[in-house]
Amino acid sequence: MKNRKPTTSFAPYEIRRFILPLTVSSVIVLAGVIADNLLNGPARNDTLVIFGLMAIGYIIVNTMLITKTANFQKTYGWVNSIFSGVGLGLLNYVLPDHVRESAHLLIVFGIVAVATSSGRVRAYFTLLISLAISLLGELPIKDYVEQLLELVTPFLVSIIVSEAFFRIQNTTQQHIHRLETINKVSRQIMMTLDTEQTISLVNATIQNALEADTYFVGIVKNNEIHLDLFYDDGEYFNGMRVPLEGTLSGWVIKNQKELFLPDLREEVQLEGVQRFIIGKERTSLSWMGVPLKAANVTGIIALGSYSPNAFDLADMELLSNLAQHITLALDNTIRHSQVEEQARLDSMTGVYNHGYFLKKLSEQAEECASTGSSLGLIMLDIDYFKQYNDTYGHLVGDKILNTLCAAIKRHIKQTDTVGRWGGEEFIIALPGATGEQAMQVAQRVGETMMSLRVEDREKKTVPVPTVSQGIAVFPHEADEIYRLIDLADRRLYTAKERGRNQIEPDASHWQKK
Ligand code: GH3
Ligand code: MG
Ligand code: MG
Repeated sequence: MKNRKPTTSFAPYEIRRFILPLTVSSVIVLAGVIADNLLNGPARNDTLVIFGLMAIGYIIVNTMLITKTANFQKTYGWVNSIFSGVGLGLLNYVLPDHVRESAHLLIVFGIVAVATSSGRVRAYFTLLISLAISLLGELPIKDYVEQLLELVTPFLVSIIVSEAFFRIQNTTQQHIHRLETINKVSRQIMMTLDTEQTISLVNATIQNALEADTYFVGIVKNNEIHLDLFYDDGEYFNGMRVPLEGTLSGWVIKNQKELFLPDLREEVQLEGVQRFIIGKERTSLSWMGVPLKAANVTGIIALGSYSPNAFDLADMELLSNLAQHITLALDNTIRHSQVEEQARLDSMTGVYNHGYFLKKLSEQAEECASTGSSLGLIMLDIDYFKQYNDTYGHLVGDKILNTLCAAIKRHIKQTDTVGRWGGEEFIIALPGATGEQAMQVAQRVGETMMSLRVEDREKKTVPVPTVSQGIAVFPHEADEIYRLIDLADRRLYTAKERGRNQIEPDASHWQKK
């Protein structure tokens, strides 16, 4: 069993709400007892009057100090407990038998007041002192059972009332702690635009506010649940996947319903769900899952415990609340990265724009330099495109640009990069490629272009223009990206000079090397 989660302590003004009624009641009872004694004529007991007045003074001053000064309890709490214990214990000696009920009431009020202001340990300390002092006066107890019962009754009542208070206090403090947690995480999560950061915030929140042996955040990708965060009994697992079909998580996602299973030893009847163990070979006995759903995110956050009945509905509410924040945050991060990606692309052709291509090329060249591999660069320009536009119209020209980009992408690897250098000029970076390999790519692109046909506005099939290409290789021919680009550009110009639909240098150039 883990420790209970930290709770938020009450402020002095909050404590005042609990003990003020007890203070007022005690003062009234004491005043009543004093009045009763004063009206008693000759049988008047002055000790009682002095004791009563001192007790009233003590109660009032004490209440004021507790409710005004946050540190009073810390510094004088124990002294206070001893004083209260002695005072309450003496009640049985000072008060006459006919006001015994008043003495009992005062004991209950006193101990409960210590319980509400100073906590369980000091309350029971006070109780023990007063009980001990009260018992001393009754020794030897003659009519054992009856007398003992009468004596301990107020103490039993104090215990019951104090314990009820502690339970309410605990629940309240946990609620406050949960709300504070949610509040904090919502503030932080809204500021993050990074998935990893969001996930680590979720992790911290669950660790801090819930007692789970295992938990995960899963996002649906390709009909599977990918676990972006998966924690099981002190360990984090990476790259886990859970099928959508036949699992509790899949059920939550498909039905878009929260699932609260306090005890999994009981038969769970959910359509199409079998047991599915991930992480450690142990089955959770309590489980709860909440769906995550937004425009760009479908997933789940789930918590499990190896003990049954580990979670209550308040935990479920916290998880549900957390899920809303995670959904929004993840959706934001995805949207943000989409916008960022958009900003890197040329809007017409979908290849990288000039600026981003340069950034990418510089990174790739740096990596090739560090690993000692080469990088092939191709500069490509459509031949007589102005004329083509004039002949077939700009829209057909646009179609050619897209067709060309699709043809390039078909012949390059995923690690290669293509960018629109400007107008009808494109640039391709092939990390790891030699001159010969770049040549092959250039040839295939050129051949593909010649084999393609597009339709004009009248749906008539028209030919596709040819392309000229210049190749340069990093670092053998140029060890800096701007010189590399410049060399490829000059070679492209040469290819144009040689009559277009050419690649410069030709294949023999690379074979010579
Ligand atoms: P060269 O073989 O020497 O490259 O001749 P060219 O006509 O292709 O070269 P020039 O630089 O004279 O003309 C480029 C043309 O590319 C002019 C312009 O109309 C066309 N162009 C540039 N961007 C676009 C575009 O986005 N869409 C269309 N349809 N045409 C474009
Ligand atoms: Mg051109
Ligand atoms: Mg041009």
